[in-house]
Amino acid sequence: MDCNFNTRLLHGATSAGYGNREILPPVSQVTAFRYESMEELEKVFAHKSMGYAYTRIGNPTVAAFEQRLKELEGGVGAVCCSSGMAAITAALLAVCESGSEIIAGNGLYGGTIDLLKDLERFGIHTVYAKALSPDVVSELINERTRVIFGELISNPSLSVIDVPELSKTAHEAGIPLFVDSTTATPYLASPLKLGADVVIHSTSKYINGGGSAIGGVIIDGGKFSWDFEKHKALEEFKNYKKMAFIVRLRTDLWENLGGCMAPMNAFLSFTGADTLGLRMERICENADALAKALAEEEGISVNYLTLPDHPFHGYVEKELNGKGGGILTFRAGSKERAFKIINSLKYAMIASNIGDLRTLVIHPASTLYIRSGKAEMEAAGVYEDTVRVSVGIEDKEDLIDDFRKAVRGCSDQH
Ligand SMILES: *Cc1c(COP(=O)(O)O)cnc(C)c1O
Repeated sequence: MDCNFNTRLLHGATSAGYGNREILPPVSQVTAFRYESMEELEKVFAHKSMGYAYTRIGNPTVAAFEQRLKELEGGVGAVCCSSGMAAITAALLAVCESGSEIIAGNGLYGGTIDLLKDLERFGIHTVYAKALSPDVVSELINERTRVIFGELISNPSLSVIDVPELSKTAHEAGIPLFVDSTTATPYLASPLKLGADVVIHSTSKYINGGGSAIGGVIIDGGKFSWDFEKHKALEEFKNYKKMAFIVRLRTDLWENLGGCMAPMNAFLSFTGADTLGLRMERICENADALAKALAEEEGISVNYLTLPDHPFHGYVEKELNGKGGGILTFRAGSKERAFKIINSLKYAMIASNIGDLRTLVIHPASTLYIRSGKAEMEAAGVYEDTVRVSVGIEDKEDLIDDFRKAVRGCSDQH
């Protein structure tokens, strides 16, 4: 659609309306769909006619959400999953088999690191790149490499992947680039347009935005030329050529893993996503102001992308729509001070989530990384004294005041 973000969001997938002219997709809260004759249902199962049979395999409310996300990212197909983790699992398993290698970025989401550890038992090995830069990655690619996976903006270390450069390196080696764009959101970046092959979101975060439903999505750009000798996991689907990945997911792996999105969650996240652009605009403005205010405080070092000395500052204009996103971290000097600051905040809620329209705060080392080693943790940009803030849409004066008072009231001097 040839218009800007918010217009596209509101008038893209929904503009045609639904069966009874509803302006929102009705919640098809059912397990199964009934047919007039066995012949009709046979056609649906044989993919010879469009239709829904069973909600694990397809549901109109979920399909409406998939359509919206596909349009937002500019993909050829989208598959919604029960969670962001289910989406990452299905996407990686669709291109790997026992003996395959994944090249992953450092500083991944904790759950993803745990998943990659789980996959080792199934013979799928992950090699972590010190940085997902073309030179480092080129060194790591070998004949077993099947996919390069990273977070566009890593949470919470805030490193940014140079998608155009990295995808060039990946494609030269015949390997697809999968990007988890949860923290960037479609408002900041369009990974598929920048050259990535598959984009994944945990819709639980910014896309839902209100903290009301877990969900995930895999969106295929449909441009990657699969070499079916290399990607044997997709060989059975080679007649679909560039669509082999999404067809395998839809008709085989995703369906069999059973990680479908619940219709009510699709509805909640669909309506939540209506305001994605508005929320992100406000969230980014607040985060920028809060980061700059905190950077003035004694004994606090702030990590936020729009700060001039941030190592990835240049990507804000280049890749991120001029915005820094909703996550900032700061180091408080000690774990004790970090805890004291967190405990004395009035508005920021202590919660293990990001992307809510309420400001959330957490001490990652003692929660999200409690099962990680020190080296793993530090590679993720998490130290004993790190505080992570997921900035919300409150009035920025109140947020700044809240954090300022907490920081000033909690010195390390006694
Ligand atoms: C939360 C998150 C996930 C996992 O998503 P769930 O919906 O919680 O399963 C994956 N990647 C990133 C970057 C996340 O923030």
